[in-house]
Amino acid sequence: MLKIHYLTCSKPLLCLTFAAKYTYMSNRTFTMIKPDATSKGHTGAILDQILKAGFSIKAMKWIQLTEKQAGLFYDIHRERPFFQELVDFMSSGPIVAAVLEKENAVADFRTLIGATNPAQAEEGTIRKRFAASIGENAVHGSDSDENALIEADFFFSKLERY
Ligand code: GDP
Repeated sequence: MLKIHYLTCSKPLLCLTFAAKYTYMSNRTFTMIKPDATSKGHTGAILDQILKAGFSIKAMKWIQLTEKQAGLFYDIHRERPFFQELVDFMSSGPIVAAVLEKENAVADFRTLIGATNPAQAEEGTIRKRFAASIGENAVHGSDSDENALIEADFFFSKLERY
């Protein structure tokens, strides 16, 4: 028997694997600095704000997505009216993809970037400072631990993260 927090587990190996994965991702999120921000020269300032907010970088790459890759990444939005606009935009120039670590990473990063629509974002948030519209909104941040892991896996091999 293995005890994980308040749970008692009858299959120790399975539970340890689950616990390791859960612990790993609950402190990590995935982000992209989007093509509008990279093309306007905001990459450095955005990374600076992210680091000053207490996140550390666990993986990072500068990459331009193909239309197909952008479509796959945003597959969940395929039926939305803005899908093609989103794919065209996200494949229009380079992005910075990164895995970030901090306690409560997913929620804290969503607070740091602000609302999807920069017009509704809080003062001082990354989207308020650097985004121009709901579509071209400077940064992406995962919305759950589960999606953070899926999105990190989309861009990075295990060798590319530490
Ligand atoms: P997020 O989690 O805050 O990024 O927002 P969503 O998951 O709802 O949407 C994903 C991305 O699709 C957003 O970050 C925007 O880039 C884009 N998007 C969302 N809503 C709209 C919209 O109404 N119009 C356009 N053009 N793009 C949108």
